[in-house]
Amino acid sequence: MYSFDYRRADDAQHAVSTLGATPDAKYLGGGQSLLPTMRLRLAQPSALVDVTRIPALRQIAVDPKTVTVGAAVCHADVAEHAQIQRVLPALAQLAGSIGDRQVRALGTLGGSIANDDPAADYPAALLALNATVVTDRRRLGADAFFVGLYETALEPDELIVAVEFPVPERAAYEKFRNPASHFALAGVFVARSADGVRVAVTGAAASVFRAAALETALAANFTPEAARTVTIAADDLNTDMHASAAYRAHLIPVLAARAVAHANG
Ligand SMILES: Cc1cc2nc3c(=O)[nH]c(=O)nc-3n(C[C@H](O)[C@H](O)[C@H](O)COP(=O)(O)OP(=O)(O)OC[C@H]3O[C@@H](n4cnc5c(N)ncnc54)[C@H](O)[C@@H]3O)c2cc1C
Repeated sequence: MYSFDYRRADDAQHAVSTLGATPDAKYLGGGQSLLPTMRLRLAQPSALVDVTRIPALRQIAVDPKTVTVGAAVCHADVAEHAQIQRVLPALAQLAGSIGDRQVRALGTLGGSIANDDPAADYPAALLALNATVVTDRRRLGADAFFVGLYETALEPDELIVAVEFPVPERAAYEKFRNPASHFALAGVFVARSADGVRVAVTGAAASVFRAAALETALAANFTPEAARTVTIAADDLNTDMHASAAYRAHLIPVLAARAVAHANG
């Protein structure tokens, strides 16, 4: 690993001004994606601005309509939060399925969505729940936030402060995980609300995406049987050492059906 400076920010404004004043600096969340990248010498920031001690980024607020999670909240704290488990259990279960105990104790919501790994779990929750990403300067809907492979709509110095998740009527997340890393070979988050049904798929393509055919089928009939009738084209899906595009295409309706069964459960 190359040498770098370490700075700890006290508040959001301090973090943004420190990053802006330091060429090639990057924010540091739990370090679970950034530090391995630096160790592999795929990134060489001049400084890391640690945002995990900023009080505003560590808050969780739950009311009957919205769950708000600060960007520096670690996965374990979401998984174990009693109010989130009660109001939005699918989100707590998703957080509890990320990686292993160490990853969940350090990795943060903000770091996960800023990194936008194509197999990450949280992006599916944001997209299916139509969440809003709150940054130091604006509010971004999930549909606009995730742009492509490891690419989001964030400006280089933009700091994620929190994510607001609307509470759906029903929701569940199912993933078929890589047994070594626990990343999703494919993961499907299904959410039904007064506005309709949204289905988001992660792990299967270059970036998280909404499955329109599943949304249409489930809007008409919110049952596992309806999900199983849908065929997903393999054309734009990933083939890698873990699974073929055809296998992933087969998995998506299967996982959607399981998610609907759990959401209805
Ligand atoms: C062994 C292993 C297994 C894993 N398994 C899974 C899994 O099953 N599912 C899954 O989803 N993930 C998995 N992960 C990834 C994990 O969830 C990471 O926590 C996450 O990808 C990055 O979060 P972090 O807080 O560690 O961010 P960092 O690694 O600290 O940062 C990642 C990126 O986000 C930026 N960043 C951090 N915070 C902010 C912010 N507030 N605003 C703007 N930019 C910010 C950083 O500058 C950097 O570019 C795994 C990781 C490991 C090491």
